[in-house]
Order: sequence, then C-alpha cells, then structure tokens
Amino acid sequence: MSLRLFIGGMRGSRPVTGGDFEEFGGDTTALLLVGSGGERLVLDAGTGMHAVAGQLAEMGPGEVTVLFSHYHLDHLAGLTMNPLFYRSGWSFQLMGPTLAAGGVRDAVTRLLAPPYWPLPVERMSARLEFAESAAQMQVGCLRVRSCPVPHPGGCLAYRIDDTNSGGALVFATDLEWSQRTEAHEAAFLALCREPKPADMLAIDAHFARENAQAFAGWGHSTWEDGVEIAAAAGIRQVLLGHHAPEADDRALRALESQVQKRSAGSLLARAGQWLTVDG
Ligand SMILES: [Zn+2]
Ligand SMILES: [Zn+2]
Repeated sequence: MSLRLFIGGMRGSRPVTGGDFEEFGGDTTALLLVGSGGERLVLDAGTGMHAVAGQLAEMGPGEVTVLFSHYHLDHLAGLTMNPLFYRSGWSFQLMGPTLAAGGVRDAVTRLLAPPYWPLPVERMSARLEFAESAAQMQVGCLRVRSCPVPHPGGCLAYRIDDTNSGGALVFATDLEWSQRTEAHEAAFLALCREPKPADMLAIDAHFARENAQAFAGWGHSTWEDGVEIAAAAGIRQVLLGHHAPEADDRALRALESQVQKRSAGSLLARAGQWLTVDG
C-alpha cells in the first residue's frame, strides 16, 4: 500500500461555484491523506470537508486525525459540513498550532457553538479530542513534523512521512514566501529535504509573480515560488493550490500548461482527485 492523497478542495480564500469551476472545484482547502496502514489524516477543514467526509464514510467509522495549518475561515468552515460529527463510532483528534488568537480548541469550539452553529461540541455523537500540534508526532506509521511559515496571524506547514511505504508529502498552504526570515527559510527547506526530499510538495500558489507585488502582506505565495522551492529541495512533484477564487477552469488550465513548461512534475490541484505519494 502507498500513501494516498484525496483532494476535497483546494480553492483559496472563499468557495466559488458554477459551471466555470467544475474541473478544479470551488471548495476551499480540505485534503485527506490515507497512510499505508490505513491511517486517516485530514489536512485542514475548508468547505472541501464535505467531500472528505464522504470518502471517510465509505471507509467506515474509526479514528481520524485532523491537522490544522491555521484557523482562517477558509480552512475551518468545513467543520460545519461534516455529518460524521453526529454519528457514533467516529473519533476525531483535532490538532493545530497555538497562535496569538488562540489554539485549536478555541477556534473549533467558537465556531461550532451558538450563534454560529446550533449544536455545541458536547452534543455531538462522535468523540472529539483537542491537542496542540507538536514539532514531531506519530499517527500509526505516519511521522508528522511541522514548522511555522510566514502568514498573517501565523501558520504551520506539515511534512508527513509514511514509514512503511517511504512516501512523503509536505503540505504548505497559506504562506507568503517573499516575507520569510532566514529562520523560516532554513526550517522550511529542512522540512522539505530531510531526511530525504519529499515526494510531493502541496503549496499555496494563489498568485503569479507578475501580480503578487500589489498583494504584498496578504499572506500568499506565487506558483513560481512553489516551483523554485521544490527545485531547491529536490522535490519532483509540486501540487499547486489555494487557487484564486476568480481563476476559472480556463484560466487554471492555461496556468497549468505554463507551469508545466517550467516544471514537468507540477500540477494544479483538482477537487475530487486521488493521487499517490510514492516513496
Ligand atoms: Zn487560506
Ligand atoms: Zn490564511
């Protein structure tokens, strides 16, 4: 078995809908990573969470770990779209960074409570537990590491290594690479490279370099940043995401062929897609 990745959604900032957004999808970031031992790891809970929950339901009840990069609404709103919270037999370990505005328990229990949501966490049938993301964690055969990346309010990037299959994914959504300090750069490149170059880098590519200047401080990177980081770290496959909400299928298809001219192993995330992260 290999490490497998399902893309529930990888749209940036806000969901979009309609016929012009069918190929790449309109839901915000929520990914499901399935380890070779059957471990289930959800990466962020944007509105793509409803599709992730559908995949989880097909696999059957049990344990799920949810890792949050940060708590901006486009990475959290899908918690209201997870019907599995209301079914017994499910156990969710919710993990994320403690940021200046609070930690994972604060973010989740504030959203899943009146006036925003009718049923508070205590009324759910599933078991919910909260923990702060540590720099190193183990979920079955998945080794999880994290490091802070530059983004307004703070954000974590994660690396997940499947110690059975050898596959390794770096998940780095919501980072503004141009705002990095030397410490950010060293820590993130180490995450990408060590103990060996990751097999896939899933990264924020909200902007292109030609338009990024006008959005300095908004917290996002360009596709060129993603391709260059991957090249520097020796990562062959780049999965570009956090697509700008105004970028429709035509624009993203054109962008993908532009990106692939520079980096043959790069692709733009498409909601509903399963990918294999091979070691
Ligand atoms: Zn975001
Ligand atoms: Zn954000």
